[in-house]
Amino acid sequence: MRKKIAAGNWKMNTTVDEGKKLAKDICDMIAKKPLKTINGNPGVIFFTPFVHLIEISKIIDGLDGVYAGAQNCHSKPSGAFTGEVSASMIKSAGITHVLVGHSERRNLFNENNKMLAAKASIAVENDLKIVFCCGELLDERENEKHFDVIRNQLKEGLFWMDERSFSNALIAYEPVWAIGTGVNATPGQAQEMHAFIRKQIAEKYGKKIAENFTILYGGSCNSKNAKQLFKQEDVDGGLIGGASLKAGEFFKIVQSF
Ligand code: PEP
Repeated sequence: MRKKIAAGNWKMNTTVDEGKKLAKDICDMIAKKPLKTINGNPGVIFFTPFVHLIEISKIIDGLDGVYAGAQNCHSKPSGAFTGEVSASMIKSAGITHVLVGHSERRNLFNENNKMLAAKASIAVENDLKIVFCCGELLDERENEKHFDVIRNQLKEGLFWMDERSFSNALIAYEPVWAIGTGVNATPGQAQEMHAFIRKQIAEKYGKKIAENFTILYGGSCNSKNAKQLFKQEDVDGGLIGGASLKAGEFFKIVQSF
């Protein structure tokens, strides 16, 4: 079944204490208004910095539909990769989700589709659910290359998976020109691309899997535009950056289904 999801990508923000307070404030709101009472029964994921994860998983423990996720993992199981964190380490910390292919990883850390496919592979091998991000640059949209870019990112990064692995994936469509800019994709632009992505999934994995697959929108999503975006037929929720760092704002987004 398609799941409604509001996921917060905290990026490199908050100290551990600030992160604990942020998660606790949101969880207190969820405890007062459980997710299953909200239209669409959304799930919530906190993609926090690595050093926060164990503390955050204690805070969410016992709350239905709330998960913690890492923002990245390495593509190898272990070894001489100073400063890196493996999928099995993330799993062993009790964490359920990991982001793969965020545009900041692609563009600032030169992660290409081949590397991202390797990361996605080791993540699902370790029983982690992945949120695979895709999105075009501004000039790619202006030159009407956006559909080709997304098709290729999915083909090379994700669509090598068999059905079983693919069932552990979600996709986040995040146009790079909308991330952190205050300029979100219009609901129409988001719907158009999400429908395109769903069609790609149907062609590769069949209509039934495509219909039940969760596709999130990300890029300057906030409490003011979330309702209109989430109302679109093929938009199943959001991956939220800046607006996930304020408890009240993020909870309003959670309630936008
Ligand atoms: C993101 O980083 O995934 C994101 C969507 O950021 P923002 O909401 O700040 O645009």
